[in-house]
Amino acid sequence: MTNFLMGNYSPLSVEFKEGAGPWLIDNEGDRYLDALSGIAVCGLGHSHPSLSKVIAEQSAKLIHTSNVYRISFQEKLAEKLTALSGMDNAFFCNSGAEANEAAIKLARLHAHNQKIHEPIIVVMQNSFHGRTMATISASGERVQDGFKPLLGGFKHMPYNNVEALEDYVKVSENIVAIMIEPIQGEGGIVVPNDSYLNSIRNICDQNNLLMIVDEVQTGMCRTGKWFAYQHEGVLPDVVTIAKALGNGVPIGACLAKGKASGYFLAGSHGSTFGGNPLASRVALEVVTILEKDGMDEYAAKLGRYFMNELNQSLGGMKGINDIRGKGLMVGIELENNCTNLVAKALEKKLLINVTSGNVIRLLPPLIMKESEIDRVVSILTEILKEHLL
Ligand SMILES: *Cc1c(COP(=O)(O)O)cnc(C)c1O
Repeated sequence: MTNFLMGNYSPLSVEFKEGAGPWLIDNEGDRYLDALSGIAVCGLGHSHPSLSKVIAEQSAKLIHTSNVYRISFQEKLAEKLTALSGMDNAFFCNSGAEANEAAIKLARLHAHNQKIHEPIIVVMQNSFHGRTMATISASGERVQDGFKPLLGGFKHMPYNNVEALEDYVKVSENIVAIMIEPIQGEGGIVVPNDSYLNSIRNICDQNNLLMIVDEVQTGMCRTGKWFAYQHEGVLPDVVTIAKALGNGVPIGACLAKGKASGYFLAGSHGSTFGGNPLASRVALEVVTILEKDGMDEYAAKLGRYFMNELNQSLGGMKGINDIRGKGLMVGIELENNCTNLVAKALEKKLLINVTSGNVIRLLPPLIMKESEIDRVVSILTEILKEHLL
C-alpha cells in the first residue's frame, strides 16, 4: 500500500487486471466470481464487447466538447431515459451525488417559486444519497461525522413509517419535497412495505411537495424493473440515477416531470463533463442493450431464482435474521457484525460486500447465469456455515 493516497479507503490487497462477464482475474491469474458488480455499477458485467466497441469508436472520434454545443447522443439518451422512466426531461452529470445535488436544487427552486424562504426537504434516517456536503446533509448520520456544520433545510424521518410522516407534514410549514430511496442500499438493503411509495405520492400530492426518488442504486433494471418505483406503479416528480447507467463509465442523471422539469433555466445549473459525447454514447448503448435483452424481466426472474436458492440453503440457519431484497438486490442480515466475511469470501474467490455492519449485500451483474448464481449460493453457504455453526 502507498502513503500517497488519502486514508478514506482501506482497500483489500487484491488487484484485478481484467474481467469478462461476471468474472474478474487478479494479478496472479486467479478467477473470482463477482457478486457485487463494483457496487451495482457493472450490471452488464465486465468488458461487455459492444460497450468496449463503442468506447473505442467514440474515443477515437470525439470525447468532449462541453455543453456549449449540441450533443446528439445526450439528446437521444435523454429521450430514451424519459420514455423508460415516465419523466419529461433530463440533466446529465457524473455521479449519484451530483444527480442528487441537482434534485435538491430543483426542490429549492420549487420553494423559491412559492416564495418559501426557509424550505425543508424531508429525508430519511439511515439513508444514503452521496458524499458531497448537501448529500451527506440529506443522508443518515453515519456519513456526517466530523463534517458539521451541515447544510440546513433537511428533516430526517424514520424510513417506512407513513404515520410519522403524515403527522409531521400536518403540523409543519415550509416542507417542499420528500426525498427517498425506494430500497435503502447502503443502509442495509431495507425494503419498505409494498404501498410505501404510493403513500408518499399521496402525501406529496396533497401538500404540493416534490417526490424525489433516489434510484442511483436501484435503477437500471437492478430490482427487476427499470426503476424500483415502477413496482408500485407510481410516478415521482424527480428521479436520480447513476451507478449502472454507464456500466463503469462515470455518468449520472436527474430526471424530472411536470413542474420540476421546468425549474432549471439557462445558467441555473451545469456540469463541465456532464453528458459529454463519450459518456452519453456509452450510456445510450447500455440502455439499448438492457432494453434489447429484456434485462428488467431477466433480473426479476433470476432474482426469484436467487432468493429461492438462498432460502433453501440458508433459511432457518441460526445467526441469520433475515434474507430480503428485490430482483438482484439482495441482503442477508446476520445477528452479529460480519464485516470479516468479505475477506473470507475473497479467499474462496467470491466478491461480496457487507453494509451496515451485519448485512451481506449481493448485487451480482444482471447477466449472470443460473449456474453462476448456484456457485454464489454454495460458496456463501460454505462461509456462513463456518462462520455461524
Ligand atoms: C451510491 C449511491 C449514491 C452516490 O453515488 P456516487 O456516484 O457515489 O456519488 C447516492 N444514492 C444512492 C442510493 C447510492 O446508492
